[in-house]
Amino acid sequence: MAPPVIADLRSDTVTTPTPEMRAAMASAAVGDDVYGEDPTVNELQAEVARLTGFEAGLFMPSGSMTNQVAIAVHTRRGEEVVCAEGSHIYEWELGMMAAFSGVVPRFVPAPLGVPAPEAVRLAVRHSVHQSPTGLISLENTHNKAGGTIIPIDTIREIRAVADAEGLPLHLDGARVFNAAAALDVPLSEITRHFHTVSVCLSKGLGAPVGSVLVGSAEAMKQAHRYRKMLGGGMRQAGILAAAALVALRDGPTRLKEDHRRTRELAEALVKAGFDVNLAAVQTNIIYVTLPNAAGQVAKWAEQGVLASALGPDSVRFVLHHQTGDGALEQAIEVLTA
Ligand SMILES: *Cc1c(COP(=O)(O)O)cnc(C)c1O
Repeated sequence: MAPPVIADLRSDTVTTPTPEMRAAMASAAVGDDVYGEDPTVNELQAEVARLTGFEAGLFMPSGSMTNQVAIAVHTRRGEEVVCAEGSHIYEWELGMMAAFSGVVPRFVPAPLGVPAPEAVRLAVRHSVHQSPTGLISLENTHNKAGGTIIPIDTIREIRAVADAEGLPLHLDGARVFNAAAALDVPLSEITRHFHTVSVCLSKGLGAPVGSVLVGSAEAMKQAHRYRKMLGGGMRQAGILAAAALVALRDGPTRLKEDHRRTRELAEALVKAGFDVNLAAVQTNIIYVTLPNAAGQVAKWAEQGVLASALGPDSVRFVLHHQTGDGALEQAIEVLTA
């Protein structure tokens, strides 16, 4: 029999809807969102657009879809997308940029998830002998680099590169709320430097489903068509948007607690002799390098602590609001025993 779960730290997507979300879902006003007639979806889109400083937003079932729709909006077939090495848009979206938009990634080195503006500039190509660049895309926080933050000055410099090269700049902001909480700045301080931003509501914020793509009204008009092509046109989606609105209201204030607990866990792991790069522990993610990652993860699972083996020697922990201080203390006992 599976042991009781002390802490599920595989991802911040594992949270279940709070009672407030369930109540909001039960009483949500709804309509057909493919016709643009769901008032709760419209409210959510307007609210995310307001928070991020954009004209319009479009609700979709997943962050992968918001990213891939954005890529389709910005690019033409045969182009390249310049992005940081390890970017989710390529590493974890199953080749969809090629399958759907006919574009390929060009990775830029990114120590701690942060590409140097000069490296981005050098990766941009306009020559008639090479596939041209169609888009520059950043990820903040950067998942594979450890939930790391891009300094706002660096974002500004990369936007200057994009402007100089005449290119759009997209942000995979699946965890941009974590970056804003860690930097203690309003979300728009980060997002306003981009042409489109994908914001995930079902990661740290805790909604059961959904991401919102934000951008200009014109970009969202095109995005609407690509969303429908991908089968992402939902009907009475206000049921989901209602939960997402609660997540948007209650979620951001909890992220600092997640980050504090992440730090606490990371330091306990280092103290117990585990190999953790503390410089990369900036938000709610910890990567541990150890031999036989899958075996170790299975052993911890037997004792009720769930983590992800993301490679032969790499284990990831992700903190979220449904692992509180008590559960964390118990998890640390298991992990450092
Ligand atoms: C989770 C995540 C996404 C989107 O994932 P979905 O499971 O498709 O919602 C996009 N980018 C990053 C960096 C992520 O961590």
